[in-house]
Amino acid sequence: TIPLVALIGRPNVGKSTLFNRLTRRRDALVDPSPGVTRDRHYAKIDWEGHAFSLVDTGGIEEDDGLGGHIREQALVAVEEADIIFFLLDGREGLTPGDLEIAGLLRRSQKPVFPVVNKIDDADLENELLPPFWELGVDKVWPLSADHGYGFAELMSALLPLL
Ligand code: GDP
Ligand code: MG
Repeated sequence: TIPLVALIGRPNVGKSTLFNRLTRRRDALVDPSPGVTRDRHYAKIDWEGHAFSLVDTGGIEEDDGLGGHIREQALVAVEEADIIFFLLDGREGLTPGDLEIAGLLRRSQKPVFPVVNKIDDADLENELLPPFWELGVDKVWPLSADHGYGFAELMSALLPLL
């Protein structure tokens, strides 16, 4: 079976934008079974000859107003994932919700890539990345899911795990 990469993070950090960037590729197959997974979207992607599955989630938030439904979907995604892209919002900075998710991901003992999104260029990287060093991880990846900044570097780091 091929590895499953899960996009995890609070709502609005850019998970679906990254999912779309990856699935816009000609070799991405978006899973056509929406009924089964209302809040989890799957795609199969071939990246430089290495296949992986990708799952997008509604996002983890303590009180999602749906009886924790969206949160539950995200936790299922963590459970089934082999590799996790933990998305954070560079424009908002590190939030208590992020720290909660970080703890949860640490306990999962799976490879986690902390990705600080909405970093659209190098100037913004210098300005917005430092607060995220407080996560206490070895590396934090700057990304613009929207514009592509940092995307090639992130995907190059994923490749050896595929
Ligand atoms: P999700 O809830 O985590 O799936 O977040 P979305 O992908 O729906 O994005 C939430 C908002 O952030 C949207 O308005 C996006 O246009 C915006 N956004 C996503 N990625 C970027 C980015 O790289 N740069 C900027 N400036 N905005 C972004
Ligand atoms: Mg989304």
